[in-house]
Amino acid sequence: MFDYLIVGAGFAGSVLAERLANGSGKKVLICDKRPHIAGNAYDFYNDEGVLIHKYGPHIFHTNSKDVFDYLGQFTEWREYQHRVLASVDGMLVPMPINLDTINKLYGLNLTAFEVEEFLASKAEKLDQIKTSEDVVVSKVGRELYEKFFRNYTRKQWGLDPSELDASVTARVPTRTNRDDRYFTDSYQAMPKHGYTRMFERMLDNPNIKIMLNCDYREIADDIPYREMIYTGPVDSFFNYRYGKLPYRSLEFKHETHDTEKFQEAPVVNYPNEQAYTRITEFKCLTGQEHKKTSIVYEYPQAEGDPYYPIPRPENAELYNKYKALADARPDVHFVGRLATYKYYNMDQIVAQALTVYGKIIGMKRKEAAVAAVASSPATTTTTTNGKTKSNGKLPATVQVTGNAVM
Ligand SMILES: Cc1cc2nc3c(=O)[nH]c(=O)nc-3n(C[C@H](O)[C@H](O)[C@H](O)COP(=O)(O)OP(=O)(O)OC[C@H]3O[C@@H](n4cnc5c(N)ncnc54)[C@H](O)[C@@H]3O)c2cc1C
Repeated sequence: MFDYLIVGAGFAGSVLAERLANGSGKKVLICDKRPHIAGNAYDFYNDEGVLIHKYGPHIFHTNSKDVFDYLGQFTEWREYQHRVLASVDGMLVPMPINLDTINKLYGLNLTAFEVEEFLASKAEKLDQIKTSEDVVVSKVGRELYEKFFRNYTRKQWGLDPSELDASVTARVPTRTNRDDRYFTDSYQAMPKHGYTRMFERMLDNPNIKIMLNCDYREIADDIPYREMIYTGPVDSFFNYRYGKLPYRSLEFKHETHDTEKFQEAPVVNYPNEQAYTRITEFKCLTGQEHKKTSIVYEYPQAEGDPYYPIPRPENAELYNKYKALADARPDVHFVGRLATYKYYNMDQIVAQALTVYGKIIGMKRKEAAVAAVASSPATTTTTTNGKTKSNGKLPATVQVTGNAVM
């Protein structure tokens, strides 16, 4: 008899499997319908030997020391500050928009103070900020909105920014200094040997059994278990009783090139002419040295794997109906981005899973997170003044830089 059947071996399922097995000695069966663990964060060495992310670039960043320390038990970290360029008007310029973006785009030589005035002069005064278009236009004006945001958003979401919640672009900052980092979180790093290796270490416990290529429906009636943790799509769990929750999907086109370096930045965004939204060069993220290089193009599309919940009021209403069904099932814990129909970054999902574990064992999240670091069989980390030190295994990694931007 298993104590828990966990559906999905992504961050949500794997953190809970690790905690229940290592923290509470529970017997866990974790299944995934995909042929691998690690969910969307899955990475692997392709035929040419380059480490790539199957489901698009995954960059780890967080302001939570708890989450960073927790994951640090299962991986060494490689310091990494993400940078993005955007291809606009035939130039490559820093994204998010900063002082250099404006100066390069307009052939100017403004100071930080002057660029603030420049943006203020372009910004439109609006009575109400309701949509994504309002957010951007009220910050940087219509011209920059057209160059950087409008078409990108239309490609990404299949909707005009005027049809999307303000929350979608509320996360896109502009800077009047020359800071060209994409994120400003306190902790920014990549798992040194990749995400999949980190997940393997999380799940390495004799009390955890893993079944891959396995939809939970094929086994749930035959394998005895006490409770379920479900990290798949909530509408699918209830057989789409109220209809399908809308998602935006992506097609990934991977390529390997016989050259050491493909592009000027880890990610280049293409807001306008191309059908794809961005190109990522993996070696820039992973730090791998290799004489070839692998890249991925992302083509947004309506059909396919569910990636991005579409943030519109009518979808939130539909989700609330499913949430009511989920709340009426005390035998099932619904955790993760698909089960709660919300886009979350990886660190937020780890935090959510630690909170759920805390609830299961009757602890507050902070206590559960501290216990998670203290009770793990793997290496522990200590962090002082924003610099991460390890007790032998982990290199110093992080910088304290400010607030999250995405
Ligand atoms: C293109 C893209 C880029 C991203 N980049 C970043 C980034 O740079 N930084 C960041 O922090 N976050 C990023 N994210 C978000 C990140 O992917 C999520 O936060 C994370 O994957 C959520 O983990 P999860 O466990 O909730 O879901 P998932 O990783 O999706 O895991 C859920 C698992 O459940 C399985 N499953 C579903 N139904 C069933 C079933 N019936 N039976 C068995 N198994 C089932 C699925 O196969 C899947 O493996 C990105 C997401 C996308 C789509």
